[in-house]
Amino acid sequence: MASSLHQEQERAQESGKGNPGEIQRYDAVIIGAGVTGLYSLYRMRELGFSVRAFDHAGGVGGTWFWNRYPGCRFDSESYSYGYSFSEELLQEWDWKEHYSGQPENERYLNYVADKFDLRKDIQLNAHVDSAVFDQTENCWEISFEDGQKVLGQYLITSVGSLSDGYTPDFAGIESFKGATCHTSKWPKEGMDLVGKRVGVIGTGATGVQLITEIAKEVGHLTVFQRTANYCAPLRNGLIDDETQRKIKASYPEIFKKCSETPGSFMHEFDPRSAMEVSPEERQEQYERLWAEPGFKKWLSNFRDVMVPGEANEDYAEFVRNKIRERVNDPVVAEMLVPKDHMFGSKRLPCESGYYEVYNQDNVLLVDVREAPIERITPQGVKTKDAEYELDVIIFATGFDAVTGSLVKLDIQGEGGQTLKDKFANGPRTYMGISSAGFPNLFTINAASVGNFVRAAEPLVDWVSEAMCYVRDNEYMRISATPEAENAWVKHVNEDGAKILRTQANSWFVGANIPGKARALLTAPDTAPVMRAKRAQVAANGYEGFDLQ
Ligand code: NAP
Repeated sequence: MASSLHQEQERAQESGKGNPGEIQRYDAVIIGAGVTGLYSLYRMRELGFSVRAFDHAGGVGGTWFWNRYPGCRFDSESYSYGYSFSEELLQEWDWKEHYSGQPENERYLNYVADKFDLRKDIQLNAHVDSAVFDQTENCWEISFEDGQKVLGQYLITSVGSLSDGYTPDFAGIESFKGATCHTSKWPKEGMDLVGKRVGVIGTGATGVQLITEIAKEVGHLTVFQRTANYCAPLRNGLIDDETQRKIKASYPEIFKKCSETPGSFMHEFDPRSAMEVSPEERQEQYERLWAEPGFKKWLSNFRDVMVPGEANEDYAEFVRNKIRERVNDPVVAEMLVPKDHMFGSKRLPCESGYYEVYNQDNVLLVDVREAPIERITPQGVKTKDAEYELDVIIFATGFDAVTGSLVKLDIQGEGGQTLKDKFANGPRTYMGISSAGFPNLFTINAASVGNFVRAAEPLVDWVSEAMCYVRDNEYMRISATPEAENAWVKHVNEDGAKILRTQANSWFVGANIPGKARALLTAPDTAPVMRAKRAQVAANGYEGFDLQ
């Protein structure tokens, strides 16, 4: 099957999209040419599958193509984020900063696409209308907005976890006379903010990065904050030549470390309890880690800082005091201090001068929990208490995470059941990657959390090996059994309820989208546990999957 499909694919490549009316057939159709899509294409092609990736963007890079707002950058170390599959790539590519910015990250992913000749199998500006499973042919028919159709034995959704930008449905939004933009759709040519009256709605990781950067150039900035966040200093810096050499010599150790930690980051928890040591020792460790760059202060801390309880609250108070120290006006400082959720229950935004922004005379912080936004007017934003006149409104209001992009693909499985209906009360999958009644669909975007690239590479490898198993054993389809799926959903709900990530109202549980069912959208397990579970499933002949 693979070889005949290869020939068809070669013909398709020669003719670009294929002849008018001709439906190209591939072993795997990948939706998304971001970090996981590019690697899926590379890996599956290496294994002899005919593959084509489609992306609605005008370029490769996924999240790093779209999120080009000022200040956008990694929160994990650049060298822990890059692909590990090619030693040549690792040695060729010089990360310039410890926490690399969007322009560089987009350049990196374009470099990868060129180096591994991936572009010839990628179609950009391709908007999926629907994907329908054909039970007779055991393949997916994917239809695009422009009328193009393709067939794929497998449908691989590499659409990202945070890709479906969410703009709240504010009344009067279309009446605003100035410019508006969601951060995840930042125009390539940029936004002219110099000297303007700019309003930013949202103070999550995106808002924090954006606000810090644009406060340097706007005329006046109004920040509309509903929930204060715990933010910590990123302490970014350039990578000098000597450090570059050391990084390149230590990739095996970096990736080994990442493979052993819960979130695939290069930081290891201190096995001690914060409450076991003296208050002085505890404080000394908090201060020492605070002075370190990146997530170290979070993920190298005492192990129980990341568990609901006394240690978590102790550290939360340390962070609150760090915020208070940096803001001149005590009233504004208290507005910026989070008091309604636990430290670490949301992803920790890393910042580079965020709190000092509120010491500028031209910056106003508005509490929209106290006085909610009532509507957008032609002049600006009207809250319960006042109207704020603006030239530009920026929505840093996050994403319909994990399932948002997935259900928008209009995926229809056996018997016409849609993934949207099936996921109405939360995702129903087996290990995040397969859903009963949707054979040969691998939802790669729904299964990783933490350092996405480190988690995604082994996941893509596992899916590719499963596809080889199906091919080598002359099956035509693989799909989660309802029993395995039920057990997995039970595990996610029951064990997920105990972890820190489900304790706040965040995208982790879909609580940021009005009307979305509250459910943990990812596995509750650590990355090493998930890899071990998947390995066990494969070793047991794809236990929990129905193979036909
Ligand atoms: P987010 O964390 O969901 O934050 C959205 C913000 O918009 C929140 O402050 C939210 O307030 C506010 N908001 C939403 N609806 C609102 C409404 N109707 N009225 C007023 N405020 C409203 O989204 P994000 O900042 O884009 O970050 C999402 C994730 O992307 C992060 O957790 C992280 O995983 C990733 N990210 C990573 C980086 C990085 O450094 N690499 C950078 C950016 C993002 P509430 O909190 O009250 O809901």
